[in-house]
Formats: sequence, C-alpha cells, structure tokens
Amino acid sequence: MKIAILPGDGIGPEIVAEAVKVLKALAPPLEMETAPVGGAAYEAAGHPLPEATLKLAQQADAVLFGAVGDWKYDTLPRALRPEQAILGLRKALGLFANFRPAICYPQLTHASSLKPELVAGLDILIIRELTGDIYFGQPRGRRSAPDGPFASAEEAFDTMRYSRPEIERIARVAFEAARQRRRKVTSVDKANVLETFQFWKDVVTEVHRDYPDVELDHMYVDNAAMQLVKAPKKFDVIVTGNMFGDILSDEAAMLTGSIGMLPSASLNERGQGLYEPSHGSAPDIAGKGVANPLATILSAAMMLRYSLKQPEAADRIEAAVQKVLADGLRTADIASDGCAVVGTAAMGDAVVRALG
Ligand code: NAD
Repeated sequence: MKIAILPGDGIGPEIVAEAVKVLKALAPPLEMETAPVGGAAYEAAGHPLPEATLKLAQQADAVLFGAVGDWKYDTLPRALRPEQAILGLRKALGLFANFRPAICYPQLTHASSLKPELVAGLDILIIRELTGDIYFGQPRGRRSAPDGPFASAEEAFDTMRYSRPEIERIARVAFEAARQRRRKVTSVDKANVLETFQFWKDVVTEVHRDYPDVELDHMYVDNAAMQLVKAPKKFDVIVTGNMFGDILSDEAAMLTGSIGMLPSASLNERGQGLYEPSHGSAPDIAGKGVANPLATILSAAMMLRYSLKQPEAADRIEAAVQKVLADGLRTADIASDGCAVVGTAAMGDAVVRALG
C-alpha cells in the first residue's frame, strides 16, 4: 500500500517526521512518498496544492498530512493561501466523512476544564458530514429582502440542504464505525425546527434498519451541546451534519484539554483517507523541537485502522502512546507536576521504544 506524506508548514515537518519514524518501526508493508503542500508548496512551486502533490494524493491509499498555514501568507490572494490545499484535497478526493475522536487519557484528566470524574476514560467519536449542509448549499448571497417585516432592506442568506444519498452514506459510515466500538450511535439534528434535519432524522432511521445490532438515538443539537459538557461519557459515536459537526467536534475536543493529542481522519467512499492532527501549524513554536507529535502519531494509527485495514498495528501504536504517558513523559503542552518534559523527537523515540 502507498501513502502520501504531506508535512506542510510550521511544526508540520517536525511532527510528521515522528509519525513516519513510528510507522517505519512497525514495518508494515508500506510505500511512502513525500511532497510539499501549503505554504511550503507555494514557495517551491507557486501554488499551495501543486499538480504533482495532488496526483500523489490521488494515487495513494491514504494521505498523512501535517498542518499548513502561517501568518506571513495572510496577504496572498485567497486561492493561493496555504489553507486552500486542504479544501482542494477534500474536494479532489471526495472526502465526505470527518472522524474526530475525543479521548481523555487517564494521565491527562487534569488538563480538561471539566471535573476529572466526568472525563476519566472518555472515548467518543464524532462523525461530521463534510460536503453538504448550509456551508455549500446554493443559492446563497446578498440581496434586497423580497418580503417580510424588513422587505427591501439589504440581507444575506444561505441555503441548508441535504440529499438522501448524502445522508445515507454518512449514516452507514457511522453505523459501521459503531460496530467497531460500543455499538451506539447518536444522530444529532434540529428536526423540531428545520425541514432539512427532519429529513436527516427520517433517513438515518431508515438506514438503521440494516444495523439492528447497533443502538440508535436522536438528539437535538442544543441538547447535545449541553450533554457533551454534562455527561460526555454517555456517547459512543455521534453523527451529524457539516455545521453542527464543526461546532460539536471542537467542543468535544476541548473536553480532553490538549490540542496536541487529537487526531482526525477524513474518508471517501473508497475508504481512502486524509489523516491529520486536529491542530494547526503552530508557527509560534515551529523549529523549536517542542511540539507534541502524539496527535500526528495517533492520526497514523487511525490511517492503519480505517484505510490500510491493519487494526492490530493501530492498536499497537495507541497502546504505545498510553504507555509513554503512563511512564510520565510529557511534551511542554501537556506538562504536569512530577513528569519529565521532553521534546518532539524524544517523544517520537519513546513511542517507538514502547511499541516493544
Ligand atoms: P494552532 O492549532 O496552530 O495553534 C494554537 C495554539 O496551540 C498555539 O499556541 C500552538 O503553539 C499550540 N499548539 C498547536 N499544536 C500543538 C502541538 N502539536 N504541540 C504543542 N502545542 C501546539 O492554531 P492557530 O495558531 O490558530 O493557527 C496557526 C496556523 O495554522 C494558521 O495559519 C492557521 O490557518 C493554520 N491552521 C491549519 C490547520 C490545518 O492545517 N489543518 C488547522 C488549523 C489552523
């Protein structure tokens, strides 16, 4: 199997190097090829997603992505900014299912803003639909209001829409993922107010008939936001649309308290995926060798599980990360009393040793 390695900008190259180190130590039969993306690609080839990088990503079974962006590119035209590379890759690869696990490691419960007993042992997975909803629905724009109490005033509008096939495929992804976990799916909607989400609820319920072994419940998004901070451990898999997923996945991420620990995956219908840490390129600490590489190493584990179908290898990486934390090793962002603070490369080396 072939993976495309796209390190990107800022801390991207440092953290991706550690994930590659771990993959090489595991020695699964993988071919790896590296290409520039984001600001690094703009510098090298004049575009954040050069043709050669896109072709490599399309031909690969999976993409391991670092992060892109730097404030020095903020004055570039939008189409040339580093972040356009992610949007371009999502579109070209048809990535429609975004997986954001929120796992709270026992050793890091102090980093959460919630009480330790609420987050200790937390392990939930948010699956966000990535291609539809109000973010992409047409028509959208600005106009003179055609009716209503403010008729003829200037107004802006967007269109929320979901088609049956879009809902069916994300629902199937959620039920399949739940089968590899605790077999419970919570579908989050706003069916009490929005036609789009009444339809969403109806279609998810229909798809559920094919998954009688998985429990399904429905929850309004306002209640889901509340329950995530009240009793997050009662969830297993949450599936929702693009906008609600955008908001809830960041909320869930913060339950774990440390952005340097959170992996993510975006998958298409062929199981091809883009795997990246949930954080950005952290220009403030780039080049200092202090970035936490664990989110990227855990993204590599997700890649092995979901695209490369090597769940045992994924389990080994996740167990190694747990062991390193249990041994008291920390990067600066997750430092706590009595623990040894190490740099990026030392953390990667420790994970390699912990693989056994
Ligand atoms: P950021 O996630 O890069 O950084 C936020 C804070 O978290 C910073 O203090 C940073 O030092 C810290 N941090 C992030 N990752 C860390 C790690 N692995 N270890 C230790 N500390 C870490 O967000 P930002 O500062 O808002 O954005 C910086 C750049 O990243 C911007 O150009 C933004 O557009 C870009 N960005 C890219 C992606 C992506 O590539 N997917 C995502 C978000 C932001």
